[in-house]
Amino acid sequence: MHPDHHDDRPAAAFIAEELAKIPARYSPIAHLSATVGICLAVLLLSVSMIDAFGWREAAVIPAAFLLANLVEWIAHRELLHKERFGFRVLYQQHTPRHHVMYREESMAVASRREWYFVLMPAKGVFGIALAGAPVALALGWLMGADAAWTFMGVVGFYAGSYEVMHLIYHLPHGHAARGTEIIRKLSRHHARHHDPRVMMTKNLNVTFPIFDWIFGTIAPKHHSTEP
Ligand SMILES: [Zn+2]
Ligand SMILES: [Zn+2]
Repeated sequence: MHPDHHDDRPAAAFIAEELAKIPARYSPIAHLSATVGICLAVLLLSVSMIDAFGWREAAVIPAAFLLANLVEWIAHRELLHKERFGFRVLYQQHTPRHHVMYREESMAVASRREWYFVLMPAKGVFGIALAGAPVALALGWLMGADAAWTFMGVVGFYAGSYEVMHLIYHLPHGHAARGTEIIRKLSRHHARHHDPRVMMTKNLNVTFPIFDWIFGTIAPKHHSTEP
């Protein structure tokens, strides 16, 4: 944001305070390239390791996708909205920072530097790949290496989708990346999660609200008489 442009967002003062703590050398483009780059590397490495792709490997794709969606739902509720030993940094960056800065009515970042508060840390992306590894090993033992690499490919694709989609939800309204109806729908789903009254229990899927639908955790739409 231009320095003499007035920032009228409810959390403007807090955002300014936290922006001041970001190291001067921080590059939002380098941050996005690092996190999405790791995801792409996992995806491409996995694809390159697959020898023969048959029906069993094909069946792994939807199963891995659903598992990732379930893990997203659970991790969001249990690690990002609750303080858990060993995972406190996830909570601290999410509930008292990301959620305080961006509310349902003021979801957009005002500058690229604010991507710092939206994107995952690069270590977090490594953590996701590491978390997928034991599942891949078990699959490798049961179904062979090609199934295991297919699973890791889905992990890389899914984590990259999460990163890019979450960023898009927090871009300004007229942004070209928000041009399609499906993205606007998914943006509204996530924006609703940014209502502090429902954030602990509702709209916990950030990418595709499959498990929000299965578990019945889709936040009710605003009643028209509400402010
Ligand atoms: Zn968000
Ligand atoms: Zn949240």
